Amino acid sequence: MRRGTLYDMSQTEPREEQQPRERRPRSEIPPERRAAALAQVRTLGDPVLRESARPVETFDSELTALSRRMIAVMRDAPGIGLAATQLGVVKRMIVYQVDDDPVTLVNPRIVGDSDDTEVLDEGCLSLPGVTVPVERPTLVRVRARDLRGRRLEYDAEDLEARVIQHEIDHLDGVLILERTSREERGRVLRELRERQTAAVPSGSGL
Ligand code: ZN
Repeated sequence: MRRGTLYDMSQTEPREEQQPRERRPRSEIPPERRAAALAQVRTLGDPVLRESARPVETFDSELTALSRRMIAVMRDAPGIGLAATQLGVVKRMIVYQVDDDPVTLVNPRIVGDSDDTEVLDEGCLSLPGVTVPVERPTLVRVRARDLRGRRLEYDAEDLEARVIQHEIDHLDGVLILERTSREERGRVLRELRERQTAAVPSGSGL
């Protein structure tokens, strides 16, 4: 088992050497666009994040439109992955971008993984400002469909494997809080509670 730190998933920027060339650095995304993207992402406490998403059966223009919207939010947030449930849509679909082009996977499933695992700090757009160590297999075989319903099956490793596992977890209502130690979970929940108390003055309901 290797150990290291990855400041990403959906929250923070990947390390320099992992930054895809075509991706806009966070500083170049206008703040209002970033805010508009983040406003669409459901955060901890929203029950939709705990739902099990339903398999997609219809591959139509509506699905393509959803994929485009997800990719736009992912780019502007900015993140390297997003699950439909994070936008409140309970369909089994994820998008991610670790190389030059974004990838959309419909009904994705992990059908095999490596014994070799790695612990990295992961963030999540649905848990703003939080990272926790998560151990995951470094290689997975994924089976899915593309937007036209064609079957896909391939092996993914390292960052790509991690993003796919993180996003498929979302489709099952699982967050990184369930993938880390009880101590880390307690620490994060305490931090989030304190931040919430500090951010909401009495009398302000908006
Ligand atoms: Zn996430």
